[in-house]
Formats: sequence, C-alpha cells, structure tokens
Amino acid sequence: MSHRPDPDRPEAPPLFPPASLGVIGGGQLGRMFLQAAQRMGYRAGVLAEHEDAPGAQVAHWSVVGRDQDVATLRAFRDRAEAVTVEFENVSAPALRWLSRFRPVRPGWKTVWTAQNRLREKAFLTRHGIPHAPWRPVRSVEEVQAAVRVLGLPMILKTAASGYDGKGQIRVDAACRAAAAWDDLGRAACVAEGWVDFVAEASVVVARGRDGRAACYPLALNRHDRHILDTTVMPAPVGPVVAMEAREMALGVAQALETIGVLCVEFFLGRDGRLLVNEIAPRPHNSGHLTIEAAPASQFEQQVRAVCGLPLGGTDLARPAAMVNLLGDLWIQAGGEPRWDFALAHDPGVSLHLYGKQDPAPGRKMGHLTVLDPDPESALFRALAARACVLGKM
Ligand code: AMP
Repeated sequence: MSHRPDPDRPEAPPLFPPASLGVIGGGQLGRMFLQAAQRMGYRAGVLAEHEDAPGAQVAHWSVVGRDQDVATLRAFRDRAEAVTVEFENVSAPALRWLSRFRPVRPGWKTVWTAQNRLREKAFLTRHGIPHAPWRPVRSVEEVQAAVRVLGLPMILKTAASGYDGKGQIRVDAACRAAAAWDDLGRAACVAEGWVDFVAEASVVVARGRDGRAACYPLALNRHDRHILDTTVMPAPVGPVVAMEAREMALGVAQALETIGVLCVEFFLGRDGRLLVNEIAPRPHNSGHLTIEAAPASQFEQQVRAVCGLPLGGTDLARPAAMVNLLGDLWIQAGGEPRWDFALAHDPGVSLHLYGKQDPAPGRKMGHLTVLDPDPESALFRALAARACVLGKM
C-alpha cells in the first residue's frame, strides 16, 4: 500500500476504468452509484453494515462493518482507489483519515459541514445564502430566546442525524418550547422560523475537480409525512426563479468547494423568494429521475467527479416525474405489490426496486419514473402506475 501524501492534487491523472471505486454506505444511493460505476467499466465496491445491504447486493466487492471501525476502514482503503459517500451521516474523522491515502470526494470538510444543522446554517449565513431565520439552541435559555426572536410557530430540529423530518418538533406556543426541547433529548438543535412556502424544490449540481459545475433543471418536490413523495423536473416555475435557484445551487457548491454531486433543497416562499432549506453533498432522491431523463444521471456525475473525468450532460431529453415506493405500499398490498399490473399498464414506466427485505412504513423501497413531453402528464402516469400495483386501476 503506497502512502500518497496529496491524493487530491489537481494535476493527478483521472482514474479510468477498470479502477476500483469505493462508496461508504450500502443503501439505495450507494447501490445506484455502484450500478453507474459498473456500467462505465469500473470495479465498484462498498463499505456496508450488512452483507445483504442494497449496495452490497450489487457490488463487485464489499467490506462489511462500521465506518468507525479501524480494521474495517483499513480493509476498505486497501480495496478502493477513490472514495465517495452515499450520504452525509458518515464519520468525518474516517473520511479525513482516508483522504491521507485516497482521493475522497466529497471531502471530509464538506461532509462535516453538511452533517450538522448548526454548522450548515452557520455556513449559509457566512456566505450570505438566503435561508430561514434561525437560532442555535443548546440550553433552555436559548430555546426561550429563539421564541422571542423567531416568533411562532417555530421548528426545533436536532443538529445531528435528522432526516426525513425525524428529530423535528413544531412549536406553536411559547409555553411548549422547553418541553419540545426535552422531547428532543435536550440535544443541540437549531430553531427555525416558520416559512410560509407554496412549494418545495431542489437543484442537483455536480462539481468537478477543475471547479466546473453542471446543474440539472429545478425539480418540484411534494412531501408526505416529511418524506419525499413525488418529484417533477423541470419544475413549473418561471425562468427567473429557475435561474435564481440554479445560481444559488452553484453558489453553494462553489462556497463549499465540493467535488461531487450536491443537492440544494429550497422553499419557494409565498412572497416568491427562494430560501435554502438543506444541503445534501451527494445524489438525492429528487434526482433519481435523471437516470432515465438526462444524458448523464446524477450517479454517473458522481462517478465522473470522483474519478476526475469531465462532467456529462444535464439537459433533459424530456420532462420527467418520479414517485417513491414506500414500505406502506407492501403493507397495504399484504405482500409484494403487483408490479405486473403497473408494468403492463404503461410500458413507459421505469421501475426501480432497491432489494430491501423488510418493508416498514415510510421506508424507501423503490421508485417509479416516467418521461413525458408534458411534466404534469408524466406525474399523472407515474401516480397511476403506483395506484395500479394495489389493483386500484
Ligand atoms: P427538513 O428535514 O429540514 O427538510 O424538514 C422536513 C420538512 O419539514 C420540510 O420538507 C418542510 O416541509 C418542513 N419544514 C422544515 N423546516 C420548515 C420551516 N422552517 N418552515 C416550514 N416548514 C418547514
């Protein structure tokens, strides 16, 4: 094993196939990264917590263990010539250590910033990127101060390891604020002012080693129980809002100096303003439809950025819609949903299943994508296909 002191130096040659790439995290995002890398001819492996994780099922090689375990990390380093992550809740010290030997993209600092809401908000404030008003909460006094400054309703969000609305409580009355913080285990939190938004949207952007970036069009996202339910791309908004979102996403990628794929989630306010809600330094659920709709999918862009290749095209061949398939569907169907109905109903439907064995409410098990010249019709067809699998059509 050679020790390379500066694996990210710009003049380092790109990694071409069949180099071996490693992703930390064996969920569906890791799985789709591996599939994109394999299609391009790379050897692609995963650090996963279980042998049967969605990523491990398709990987050329797997290292099973936790990213904080030293022996696991060493084994992973020895097999991966370049490293990426499937999501931001990975050990930043592990990434920092790996980056002494291998290119790690995104870098540990980007991941460290995005994995904690206090650091993420401070980053947005520091760079003048519009976002909801916020206050740090680390004591009862700070909870009360947040209510005074932000007003009500207010949202308390745990700083670490929150996703899909987990670790969040809406506070409607000042007298409930301290109790809400108790319910969150008195963990470090951000308090956010309530945003009166008409829609939620996102931009997926890829940034290469040379600093060049490529954006997909703005996506319109609808959530159910705080979990992404549907995405339509391009979002039906005016050209100026679409341009503003794009410029903000590029600004975030540049300010973070990230290499790889990044998703910026926005609130579209009733007053027309865009506010950044969250930053995810990796491919995102709202970008899954790029697999069918764009010349290079968000996962291919991740491969390209990790390897130092030029980025691929992001113009959509046609508008597209994606609907998520959550575990609830399996529960309602009383077993495996009737994919035969959906596939026979509309041959334009692309079905993606992640190979997860235990359907639980809210668990992302797969998704459907439809391309159509009319984005609304794409969404309608995708929803119809999802209804079909319960025998409802
Ligand atoms: P997050 O995990 O921060 O993306 O929040 C999950 C969901 O809660 C968002 O998709 C919004 O629907 C809602 N939400 C979060 N923050 C706010 C806010 N400041 N104002 C209004 N709704 C919010």
